[in-house]
Amino acid sequence: MSKQYDSNNIFAKILRGEIPNKTVLETDHALAFYDIHPQAPVHVLLIPKGPYVDFGHFVAEASPEEQLGFNAALAQLVATLDLPTGFRVIGNAGPDSNQEVPHFHLHLLGGRNLGPLLP
Ligand code: 5GP
Repeated sequence: MSKQYDSNNIFAKILRGEIPNKTVLETDHALAFYDIHPQAPVHVLLIPKGPYVDFGHFVAEASPEEQLGFNAALAQLVATLDLPTGFRVIGNAGPDSNQEVPHFHLHLLGGRNLGPLLP
């Protein structure tokens, strides 16, 4: 089933350059930028450039090239941020997750001991 994508969501506006962001990395298929309300010393969001609501939507409808490109961007992001003592990657999807922005994104957190997954 195809999901309805709201092209007025904040990350769509960031992709269109309508809202500024602090970019860490940009590739053909993905953009990584610092979260506006960081939960750790390093808190970066990685988004695909295509219009996907969440992870399930992305894997169901993004082309293999987009999916490989997104994975490659995640690997490049990890290398760029240089977090030798570790990091955490989280993706929210659906109402139980309290996903706030309806454009698929991964949170990459690090720079301190992050404690248990759900404190
Ligand atoms: P979610 O709860 O949807 O997984 O996470 C959305 C994230 O986007 C939150 O961590 C929030 O701080 C971040 N965010 C919301 N609006 C903006 C914005 O305009 N710019 C940036 N850089 N991050 C935002």
